[in-house]
Amino acid sequence: MNEIIDGKKFSQTLRTKVKSYVHIIKERYGVTPGLAVILVGEDPASQVYVRNKGKQSLEVGMNSYEYKLDASTSSDVLLSLIEKLNNDVNVHGILCQLPLPDHLNEKAVINSIDPKKDVDGFHISNVGLLNTGQKSMIPCTPLGCLLLLKDRLGDLSGKNAVIVGRSNIVGKPMANLLLQENCTVTIAHSRTENIETICAQADIIVAAVGRPEMIKREWVKPGATVIDVGINRVTKNIDGYEKTTLVGDVCFTDMAGLVAGLTPVPGGVGPMTIACLLANTVTACYRSQDLSDPEFT
Ligand code: NDP
Repeated sequence: MNEIIDGKKFSQTLRTKVKSYVHIIKERYGVTPGLAVILVGEDPASQVYVRNKGKQSLEVGMNSYEYKLDASTSSDVLLSLIEKLNNDVNVHGILCQLPLPDHLNEKAVINSIDPKKDVDGFHISNVGLLNTGQKSMIPCTPLGCLLLLKDRLGDLSGKNAVIVGRSNIVGKPMANLLLQENCTVTIAHSRTENIETICAQADIIVAAVGRPEMIKREWVKPGATVIDVGINRVTKNIDGYEKTTLVGDVCFTDMAGLVAGLTPVPGGVGPMTIACLLANTVTACYRSQDLSDPEFT
């Protein structure tokens, strides 16, 4: 399919840009951007994400600080670690890997991070700033989707965008970002009626649902651009063998010859998320020195 939007390749380009901004601030100002990642508990997927974040931070020349805490860590201990990192001048970005164990209040933890260091963009202040069109930290996954869309389509003004999913980490911030790009935005969710008809009118579909291959050919207008955020682990019969594989929320094979652009799963939005986390950390570092924001578009 030549319609493929290659997130893996784009994320490499983005990381190269991040690296050059890291180099500049180190050389000219003697400051090394630092990202602190906190992991509470031993969720295997979270351990992989945290490892990748640390590794990629080092690859672009940033400092990486990892805090692995026991699953039984108390709220007080976690909050005092965050306070320490908030006050540490060598730390420009703080991320607390979600989900947290049940006894910890996720909202309270996120809102205890200094908004200027909240590189996930989940702090209530950053949510408010983004919603009102002010300078903020933008959540990494929607930011990655936006960068891919702008790279593929250029000006998004006037486009009819349908976002399927209304989570706080993907759907809602995505809608705000596309509104700011002057798209006409519809958010669909589990209670939406005639979702197929609504999607079929879209120039842009962003699927962030978590339902394997939900979006079929009939849901998509010819020439639309489709960003598939979903990551679903399924068992499929491949060459006569039952194999576990990853699929998105969009039926990939259905889109052949139909769409103008489509992100694959894996290799689409996923690699962009970590690259945008690095970009946000560099942005936070530049802001901490009262410098203009790096340009990543
Ligand atoms: P959530 O579970 O928080 O939200 C899912 C949304 O989809 C909800 O708004 C829900 O509606 C909606 N939904 C569920 N079923 C349907 C349906 N049948 N029809 C229409 N809408 C439906 O998920 P996230 O936003 O956190 O993640 C979505 C997907 O993206 C997941 O597969 C996740 O793994 C992936 N993801 C990928 C990332 C990446 O880096 N590539 C990063 C983050 C997430 P309602 O609100 O009504 O319940």
